[in-house]
Amino acid sequence: YFITFEGPDGAGKTTVLEKLVEEIKKKVTCEILVTREPGGSKIAEAIRDIILNPENTEMDDRTEALLYAAARSQHMAEVVFPALEAGKLVFSDRFVDSSLAYQGMGRNLGIEKVAEINQFATDGLNPNLTLFLDIDPKAGLARIAKVRPDKEDRLEKEKLSFHQKVYTGYQEIVKRYPERIKIVDASQDVDQVVADCLAILKQQLPD
Ligand code: C5P
Ligand code: MG
Repeated sequence: YFITFEGPDGAGKTTVLEKLVEEIKKKVTCEILVTREPGGSKIAEAIRDIILNPENTEMDDRTEALLYAAARSQHMAEVVFPALEAGKLVFSDRFVDSSLAYQGMGRNLGIEKVAEINQFATDGLNPNLTLFLDIDPKAGLARIAKVRPDKEDRLEKEKLSFHQKVYTGYQEIVKRYPERIKIVDASQDVDQVVADCLAILKQQLPD
């Protein structure tokens, strides 16, 4: 069973996922794997470093989209597919929806085009469930400025308008896949966000 976490920068995905998994471990007996994108394996993390290196200012948008997809296919092959085959409960901090929102909408490559290359990268695997941590991008960035100044430096090169486009992309994707994607209000305090996620998981998880 494969669960992904999505949302704008500063939504709290990583923090919420960490706390959520702590809670889930108390409740379920199956093995749990927590991973992230871009990254999640040695090669995929190396690709992440290329994409997110602030010195790589000349990166072409299509190259960026392909590198995210390349990191993803490696992550699938090395980590996600084997874990799912072993019957583990797999959580990923970001997945294909991030590419659709950031590169498809944010970089204007088109959601369909980016979906195509990711179909190839994932061999068509979709998450069973996606939690969209919904926060206004401006509020998300403000949160990062407060608690993650290191990350703020990296994000500085993108304008607020980019993040607003990304957010519009997410909203479009949420509309397209209402069965798979559940919305959580991420402007609440972390413990409440975790509680809301747990309630959704309880409802959606088999057994
Ligand atoms: O979620 P995390 O902070 O680890 O993501 C790293 C960065 O990569 C984020 O700042 C996000 O803006 C960016 N990103 C992106 N396109 C994706 C996934 C992440 O631009 N498809
Ligand atoms: Mg994070």
